[in-house]
Amino acid sequence: MPGDAASLKILNERIVACDRCSRLRQHCAEVARVRRCAYADWEYWGKPVPSFGDEKARVLALGLAPGAHGSNRTGRPFTGDGSGDFLFPVLHEAGFASLPTAISRNDGMKLKDLWIASVVRCAPPANKPTPEEQRNCAPWLGQEMALLKDLRVVVCLGRIAFDGLLANMQRNGILPARSGFVFAHGAEYTLPGGLKVIASYHPSLQNTNTGKLTRPMFLAVFKQARKLAGL
Ligand code: SF4
Repeated sequence: MPGDAASLKILNERIVACDRCSRLRQHCAEVARVRRCAYADWEYWGKPVPSFGDEKARVLALGLAPGAHGSNRTGRPFTGDGSGDFLFPVLHEAGFASLPTAISRNDGMKLKDLWIASVVRCAPPANKPTPEEQRNCAPWLGQEMALLKDLRVVVCLGRIAFDGLLANMQRNGILPARSGFVFAHGAEYTLPGGLKVIASYHPSLQNTNTGKLTRPMFLAVFKQARKLAGL
């Protein structure tokens, strides 16, 4: 991995070119080659998915990894799958997203005060990255957070994102120990240095179709993020 990037744009370019995890790169390319019938006419992205949003964001929404036929197809986080169909209407209502639906990376969507990233940037088989793949991808998040100069709040979408953020903070010497940090929907923490963290269930179909995560619950998380960010 090259040295620290000078800007979020350069960082995104480096992420797209990353090939540290051969299993994931092969999987993304294979999914892009075979495609799902419903998307037979799409030219899949099939590469690491760059982050997306407002470079002056005070809030970071941190997901797990791209979906095989969602952002691995469209090339933008949470764009074109069931998780995104649940997330973007909430972001729109909370004032972070210009549009309530995300279809493609050319749909005109603009984010305000929000940056969206994930702890793993390539779609993993069965949505399960290995611990080694998570470690491989972690330096991108560290660099990204250093470049988000106005960042005040991180919303962790799911336990893996929550654990990934805390591991990153420990590695970078910001967090001495993780004891006391327990994942629970709506739980709030303040890291040394003042960064606020909100834990949320991930907007996966598994959670949203079963009612484990409802729209009011999810909206409350992003409204709280606005409040904690001073927006
Ligand atoms: S998961 Fe991350 S580290 Fe691994 S190849 Fe993709 S971008 Fe690179």
